Order: sequence, then C-alpha cells, then structure tokens
Amino acid sequence: MRRWAGISVAAASALTAVLLAVPAQFGAASAQAPAHAAAPAPAGQAAAGQAGAAKEPVAVGTGGAVASMDLDASQAGISALSHGGNAIDAAVATASALGVTIPFVAGPGGGGFMVIYLAKTHQVVTIDGRENCPAACTPGMFTDPKTGQPLGYDYASDQPLATGVPSMVATWATAIRDYGQASLAADLQPAISVAQQGFRTDADFQQLTESELPELQAYPASRALLLTSAGQPLPVGSLLRNPDLARTYQLLARYGPSYLYNGPLGQAIVQADDHPVTTPGQTVVQLPGIMTTNDLRTYQARVLAPTHVRYRGLDVYSMAPPSSSGSTVGEALNILSGYNLGAEPQATALFQYLEASRLSYADRDAYVGDPRYVGVPLSGLLSPAFAATRRCLIQQTALTSPVAPGDPYPPYQGCQNQQTAAAPVTQEGLHTNNIVTADKWGNIVAYTNTINFFGGSGETVPGYGFLLNNEMTDFDFAPPTAGAYDPNLPAGGKQPRSSMGPVIALRGGTPVFSIGAAGGSTIIETILQILINYVDLRLSLPAALAAPRVSQTNSATSLAEPLFYTSALAKQLTSQFGEQFTEATGPILPLDEYPGDATALQDLGGGRFESIAEPVRLGGGSALVVQPSP
Ligand code: GLU
Repeated sequence: MRRWAGISVAAASALTAVLLAVPAQFGAASAQAPAHAAAPAPAGQAAAGQAGAAKEPVAVGTGGAVASMDLDASQAGISALSHGGNAIDAAVATASALGVTIPFVAGPGGGGFMVIYLAKTHQVVTIDGRENCPAACTPGMFTDPKTGQPLGYDYASDQPLATGVPSMVATWATAIRDYGQASLAADLQPAISVAQQGFRTDADFQQLTESELPELQAYPASRALLLTSAGQPLPVGSLLRNPDLARTYQLLARYGPSYLYNGPLGQAIVQADDHPVTTPGQTVVQLPGIMTTNDLRTYQARVLAPTHVRYRGLDVYSMAPPSSSGSTVGEALNILSGYNLGAEPQATALFQYLEASRLSYADRDAYVGDPRYVGVPLSGLLSPAFAATRRCLIQQTALTSPVAPGDPYPPYQGCQNQQTAAAPVTQEGLHTNNIVTADKWGNIVAYTNTINFFGGSGETVPGYGFLLNNEMTDFDFAPPTAGAYDPNLPAGGKQPRSSMGPVIALRGGTPVFSIGAAGGSTIIETILQILINYVDLRLSLPAALAAPRVSQTNSATSLAEPLFYTSALAKQLTSQFGEQFTEATGPILPLDEYPGDATALQDLGGGRFESIAEPVRLGGGSALVVQPSP
C-alpha cells in the first residue's frame, strides 16, 4: 500500500470520508525532423530527475515552495526560485518543464488560469489564459450538418476542429511581464535542460500514452515523439529527449511570444491544425481545424479581477468567468455558510456539501459562459442572499437531478427554483494539472493549466515537439432544446466555459492556503471538498487533500472514488438521505479512478511554507521547498 507522511491511504480514508514564409526578424530557423529520443537506459546515463531524488508529497521549509504532478517539473520551479526568480517565474518554469515531462497535460499547445497573491500590494490578481475559439467558429460547429444533431463528444474531441488558439505562452509572458522577477528566457531554461538531457518515463507516462493511443498513432509527428517505432507506448524507464521542444523553447526565449503569435511557430500551428499530416490508413482524424494566423495575432491573455467570497472568516479568491470555478465554489461556500459543518454528524455535513454542489452546478450550467459574449450574473451567483434562496431547497432528502437553476437576479426572495428547464448536464473531461508556487517574498501562485484531454487532440506540431489542445469541446454542442438559451455555445473568438480555477485564501489580509486541482468538471468539487475538509473538519491540509473524494455535478448520482464508494458513510448517505453514488472506475485504472490530481500550499508564516502534492492519485506528485526545515 502506498503511504503518505506516515499515514496509509486507508488510514487517511478512515480519518474522514469527506475527500508557417518566416518573417525576417525570426531569422532562418525552421522546423526540423520530428524528435524521437526514446532509448533504453544506458548505464550511468544522466537524465533529469535522477541522482536519487524521489517524489515526496509534502515538504516544509523556507525560501519558496513548489508542488506539481512531477518531480522534474517541481525541480524546475525550485531552480527558478534559486536563481532569483519569484513565485511567478517558478510557476512558468514548472509549467514549461511539465510540458516536457508530462506532455499529455501541459505545454505550449494549451491554456490555463493563474491566480496570484502579490505580497507587495496584498492583492490577488488573476490571468485568464484560456484558449479562444478561432474567428470562424459558429454555434453549430459541433453538430452534424446532415442531421443537425450534436457530434459525439469523444469523436469531436479527437478532431483538429477542437483545437483552440494556444494561449499558454501568452499567459507565461503576461505573468512574467506584469509580475515576474526574471525573464521568459530565464524561466524556460530548466525546461530546455530537461528536454535536452531527457528524462526516464514511468508507469504513469505509459498509462497516459495508453489513454490517447489511437489519437497519437494517427499522427506521424506524435508517433515519432511519444511512441515506439511500432507505434506502441514507450517501455517504462525509456530515456525520452525532446530536442524539438528544447529548440521551440529556445526560440521563444530568443524572440519572445511573438515567435508564436506573429511568427513561424504560429504558422506551423495553423498548418498543423488546418492541414494535419496523418498516418496512412488512420480513421480517427476527420475534421480539420479552422484556425488562422490572425487568430493567433489577436490573442491576448488578460489580467482579471478574482472572484471573492467570505467563508468562516476567510477571504476566498478564485477565477472569474469564463472559468466557472470561482462562481461555483463561491456559491457552494455561501450555501454552506448557513450550516455549522464542523459540529454536525459527518453524514449530515457531507449531505449538505453534496446538495450545495448540486445546486451550484445547476446555476453554473445555466449562467456561466464567456462574459465578453453572454451576460453572466456573477455578483448574483456570488451573493449570500442568492445562496440563501438555494440553501432553503436543501431539506432532508437528496434533490432530484438535474435540478433547475435559481434566479440570480435581485430581489432574492424565498426559496427559489426557476421553473425553466435545467441546463443540459454536459460531458466534460477529467484531465489537467495544477501547480502551486511561493517565494521568499511571500508571493503565491496557483496555476491550473491543460491541453484538455490527456494528450489534447493527439496532434504534435511537426518539428516543434508539443501537443495541441482540444479545448473547444468544453463548449456545449447544442442548446438543450431548439432555440433555448445556452451561455456556452461556440462563437468566433469566444472562450469555452472552464472548470479550472484554483483558490487562494487569506485571513485578515494574510495568505493562509492555496488549493488547485485537475479533473475537468470535478475540479470544482475537489477544491470544495479539500477546503471543507481543512477549514471545517479540521484535517491537516495534506490529509484534506488525500481523503477520498466524491463529486456531485447536478447528476443523478455522485461520482465517488472507490474508497468513498465502499465506505460506511456512503451507505449511510444513501439510507439516510437518498444520495446515490457511482464508483469512479475506468479502463486504465488506477489512472482514471478519479483523476482529480490536486496540489496545495499552506503559508505557515515567517517565510515558511508547506508544499503539498498528491500522495497516490496519478502516481503521486512532487512537493518541494528551497530550504527544507522541520
Ligand atoms: N477542459 C477542462 C476545463 O477547462 C480542463 C481539462 C480537464 O480537466 O478535462 O475545465
């Protein structure tokens, strides 16, 4: 049995059941042959993540902290901190390295949201680095032109049509420009080294490859980079180098983000998306992309105000729309503020958590979209008075999903449930990664980023060594009924609604903790559950993160990790409150048991931080500090 901090996972569960013509300025650099550097391990061969280091899920110390899914990536963040960078630089260093070592969840082909606490000004700011839909996107782009019916979710997600404007590099550049201490060039150096030296693939890498194998096999460039010559997952322990990505990062370091957004890399992305080179005989890839170089030229990452709610004396900050995390976590916390979870029987507290999630999710699905395109009633969704109209629907028995949305426009009166139909319960992926960083100045960053599915669309940009996202299938494919309002339909330039959005919490203006998670639509519940475990049920933050999880997204049954599903508490929730559960299982267990891989960070005061990663989920993550101390 895997163990964490002296507590077995079973014991942790017992603790609680609660958890392309090259512009002249870019020189003559051009795409080279696809990289392929898988090789058996030669004795004594140096590779990143070697020298006896191992992944540890918890670290305490000073000088700064980093937690991510991966040791090499966390080490890249620590390297940035050790070379004078701040938490923002460390987040970029970690994210770019993760694009090398776990290219299935990260890298220049994706996007994400960054929440930042700035120690100097005591402010929380956020960066919206979400992918835009290309200008040619239309509300019907994911429907079958012959039948008018929505395309299959998995089918559409496999298509280059699902690729949005890669926004990761713009996010990194904006974060560094506005809040960093170092430079994009400096922050990319650790990733360049890992990509050049290579790293040893592990069982998780192999499983992640398995999960996207047909899509990777469909592209010669992806096969060359990530598969054996026979088109199979690399054997565990392979030394994987990615010279193409090293060169990509070097070019970005030299020329800046314009190498992508107004240069050769952008042209290569557009070419790959719109005219994909596929493996002869493949049948997966059928719908080419619709991206133009103008889509890239006009992309801008944006600094946004965070969402804010008060909960048990804490100021809880997260991402505003198009992320639905801030509004949904915020609404659920407002609902739960009306209960004393810590003083109640565990089953009652968990029942209230599940119902608060169910109701908040109904409102999320009905009202949250890209606010540049649709009116999002954010202040209503975050209003304690609105939450009161939802809380009073929670009685003694689980509500029947899909529950209808409330009315988040004042006046807030009575016990509300609109008579309108519930928004469709849409399919969403279960992927992604979250990075937390802190520095010796007290800045904190929580950064959830992704290429959407494990492996994104499956397409590697030939010659550049990274996968493209398939984020656009986060849009709804069609409204629930013809002509019905849906805030999350595709449109040119629009961003799809996201569930990504880490939290930073302050008390009296002082940072206390940060939590972020992977897992598509379950991200919101993962954050919520960890927060409740920690704040209300008084678990340590590592135990709160490790505890078994259950997620309710306005669906008939709640998705429960096996340890939760089989617990006495789950049985009690069914018998006492009528809650129904589905055990989270999948074809590639344990990878998709419940892929809500989380990271967290606690500010212990006096320059000390506790950095926290997953002990078990997805093979466990890596928590590091610059100077460990007891
Ligand atoms: N596309 C998802 C979102 O933005 C994240 C990817 C996933 O976890 O499936 O919410």
